[in-house]
Amino acid sequence: MTADEGIPLGRVAGFPLSAHWSVLVIAWLFTWSLATTLPTVAPGYGARTYWLAGACGALILLASLLAHELTHALVARRAGIEVRSVKLWLFGGIARLGGDAKTPREAFWIAASGPAVSLALAAVFAGSASGLDALGAAPIVVAVGWWLSGINLILGLFNLLPGAPLDGGRILRAFLWRRHGDAVRSAVGAARAGRVVAYVLIAMGLLEFLLGSIVGGAWMAFIGWFLLVAARDEEMSVLTRQSLAGVTVADVMTPRPHTAPGGISVEDFIQRYLLGDRHSSYPVANPDGVITGLITLKELRGVAPEHRATTMIRDVAVPRDQVTTVAPHEPLVALLERLAPTGDGRALVVDPDGRVVGIVTPSDITRVIDVRSIAMPAFSR
Ligand SMILES: [Zn+2]
Repeated sequence: MTADEGIPLGRVAGFPLSAHWSVLVIAWLFTWSLATTLPTVAPGYGARTYWLAGACGALILLASLLAHELTHALVARRAGIEVRSVKLWLFGGIARLGGDAKTPREAFWIAASGPAVSLALAAVFAGSASGLDALGAAPIVVAVGWWLSGINLILGLFNLLPGAPLDGGRILRAFLWRRHGDAVRSAVGAARAGRVVAYVLIAMGLLEFLLGSIVGGAWMAFIGWFLLVAARDEEMSVLTRQSLAGVTVADVMTPRPHTAPGGISVEDFIQRYLLGDRHSSYPVANPDGVITGLITLKELRGVAPEHRATTMIRDVAVPRDQVTTVAPHEPLVALLERLAPTGDGRALVVDPDGRVVGIVTPSDITRVIDVRSIAMPAFSR
């Protein structure tokens, strides 16, 4: 498990669900803020009751976030888009989609469904709170109901801010797409709008900070900064996708890579292969010539110098079933999406007969992205 995958929480509606560590921070912040504000709106309970109510409220709120995110995922699945995973994090969640919407209309519904759920939940909690109040329920329960309604309202509205990667930015993208008919330009436009929204949030946060609202101001500026980074990433990935359109794995791979026998020592390998060659990744072959794994500088670094003479390459190589494999005709963009969560830039290229015909390394990928951005300057700005 890599850090990127977060804390696994099983499957919901068929989607693998996980939580980013920041969710723990959020759960704590919500519990704390609710437990410390409840005494003013519903006085007369013990401290333990307030903390318990705070924890319950925070838990229901996380369930609300999940409902928001699952709705995006369900609408995307209905549109025929593969949903890889659903992950809860700082601003709610991310549904990792395996592709783009095919039409502006689909893009609109995938984006708009999440905030719609948050706003509907705000209404449901408000209705329940006032209903319970009328029925004479305990004030603390009513107060938690109103709090849940308020936070869901804020979440719904915040996510509607018109800048990607917020939902409002994706809605903006759908409108731009329908108007101008260009899926890529509209995504770039929405990401740039995200930057503008981020700068506005940062400026407002700093202003609030200077006017004396230290925590609120710092929090808003922090959210703005986070959004700025996300909007830049989004723009970069759209541009990369665009510049790599039509490029297949076969176009960038190193064909017929040099292989290393698994039965030689690390010392031998360094002397006979690594020093006299410009490559840094080698498929590892057994005596029959079958590729059994991959050895890179990373694995070699893990072998202490005094053990190099006695450690065999096959013992430190990454086993083949743990190496990303890809077919030569696959689009490079699809490979990049598969490699991103593992943090590893390497893949074995395997033909339909199971033979290793090439290898893709980070330098192969960097090179093609750089070359393409020179060849297509319109997209590098
Ligand atoms: Zn959303």
